[in-house]
Amino acid sequence: MQILNSCAEAKKFINTLKFQNKQLGFVPTMGALHHGHIALVEKAKRENDLVICSIYVNPLQFNNKNDFTLYPRTHESDLKLLEEVGCDIVFFPDEKILDGKDFFQYDVGFLDTVMEGLHRPCHFMGVVFIVKALFDILRPDTAYFGLKDYQQLAVIKQMVKDFEMPVTIIPCPTFREHDGLAMSSRNSRLTKTQRENASNIYKCLSNLKSNTVHKTIDNLKNDFINSLKSIPEMRVEYIEICDADTLKPLETLHSSSSGVACTAVFLGEVRLIDNILLF
Ligand code: AMP
Repeated sequence: MQILNSCAEAKKFINTLKFQNKQLGFVPTMGALHHGHIALVEKAKRENDLVICSIYVNPLQFNNKNDFTLYPRTHESDLKLLEEVGCDIVFFPDEKILDGKDFFQYDVGFLDTVMEGLHRPCHFMGVVFIVKALFDILRPDTAYFGLKDYQQLAVIKQMVKDFEMPVTIIPCPTFREHDGLAMSSRNSRLTKTQRENASNIYKCLSNLKSNTVHKTIDNLKNDFINSLKSIPEMRVEYIEICDADTLKPLETLHSSSSGVACTAVFLGEVRLIDNILLF
């Protein structure tokens, strides 16, 4: 497995690959890898000649300094997992990746005004800056993103379109623990009790989905909040039901339209997100 420790090294390495005409699949991550990440790498491996995974805890996308500081960093076990799954190249960007951040301008537009955009100011601008920088350096043919971060995927698709980048974005299903909790690097920060209670997030999303036929959107959202409200240390930051393509809030539900319910929930200090497709 080739390890690239700087942007300069990565640019040079990619130049040689481009001469060999290899199809390159890319999986950007912030590390603390789990099976959800590894499934993305496996898919990329099946569908490309070579797969590259980047590991970078992007300071620009954290609007809470504590969350950035406490974000788990587990490089040794990450490398072990990537080696086991047959990842070809791992890229650890150096600080050069941040060059130009002060001059970067991009209007995320509507997607910045709802859900993650609304509750985490500047988050998507930080995501877009780094993902664009990674795409510029690595020039992948395909890039793999989890549906777990549903809104992020929508933002990335829009960015690729706006900048006319020659990369195909591949959405990948959410990997879950045995009790339904979406795998997340942040799960390791939960206490034992918080971890047990966290499975209720997906249970309540699944209940919401099974009730879509006979309840209004307001009732579905209220039921979701009320079911989680009584659980110790749990606080729903938002629950939204929106169009699965545009992420515009839906006013009514029809089985002909595509809908998605997205939520962010705090367990103590730890903030988790999840979503469920409704039709
Ligand atoms: P992160 O390291 O959390 O920034 O995630 C890197 C990539 O892995 C993103 O495209 C995420 O959407 C994806 N990802 C994270 N958790 C999961 C999961 N449980 N299932 C599938 N993909 C995931």
